[in-house]
Amino acid sequence: MTAQGLPMAVPAEGLPARVRIHEVGARDGLQNEKDTVPTEVKAEFIHRLVDAGLTTIEATSFVHPRWVPQLADAEQLFPLVSGLSAELPVLVPNQRGLDRALALGARRVAVFASATESFARANLNRTVDESLAVFDPVVKHAKEEGAHVRGYVSMCFGDPWEGAVPLRQVVRVCRALTDMGCDELSLGDTIGVATPGHVRALLSLLNEEGVPTPVVGVHFHDTYGQALANTYAALEHGVTTVDASAGGLGGCPYAKSATGNLATEDLVWMLRGLGIDTGVDLGRLVATSAWMADQLGRPSPSRTVRALSHEDAEDTEAAEATEEQ
Ligand code: MG
Repeated sequence: MTAQGLPMAVPAEGLPARVRIHEVGARDGLQNEKDTVPTEVKAEFIHRLVDAGLTTIEATSFVHPRWVPQLADAEQLFPLVSGLSAELPVLVPNQRGLDRALALGARRVAVFASATESFARANLNRTVDESLAVFDPVVKHAKEEGAHVRGYVSMCFGDPWEGAVPLRQVVRVCRALTDMGCDELSLGDTIGVATPGHVRALLSLLNEEGVPTPVVGVHFHDTYGQALANTYAALEHGVTTVDASAGGLGGCPYAKSATGNLATEDLVWMLRGLGIDTGVDLGRLVATSAWMADQLGRPSPSRTVRALSHEDAEDTEAAEATEEQ
């Protein structure tokens, strides 16, 4: 890593001192890959993410293998990583998925709801209320077992079929999830259309309707280049949990372009520059994403990964040129 490998830290007022990054690359990223990544590669990826300092790493999903064949190896993968010193949440779609996850010792689980009827139909084949009715006993059982439960809400800022999503519709689903016992929410901008004022408005209405900021995480997609601006708006509101995907892996199959998840490296670069602690070693994280890009056979879409990998390559060339002299 070069001296240029980190931004100058200049804190801004009114922002949290520390942010917890909820790393989703191994699940949200790899579930959208055309080719299934071998289990050992997934395990090494998660090991490397822990080494890079990430403390919450979503490991896999216990959905039926028919729905998400890329993550059909959850039973094989989880024991390969469960001893690591990081929180390893897993997705559970129903009671059966929860039972499978708990049997392997999972201590953090996540259910995934939709703010819109169209996406609930497309993704869950249910209405919004039918899906909430399925999650209710799952969340209650998980809580009885002492697990931490995250509730994902997709399409919080826009929907490819319905367009704009009314704020109150999003808040209703969020309230339903916290009322049934979810410890944390993740507000998903699944197609990446949010802008900072919209983020602020939703967070404010959530507070007014009884959902406090400490339980709210944000999950932005960079489809229209807004993910960091939206993150900044959320930080100003007091949000301290931000989802991101190492190397910018993954996206949404319903979004218009291939760009998707906010890259963890891009997020860490901004937070580091703001003097906000994440515990992440950016150099190690970039090396991990460069390694994963090699495994997948294509470059990372993360600007920061590209910039820092390029710097490293220039350093190597310069060192080689010096040696030749
Ligand atoms: Mg995502």
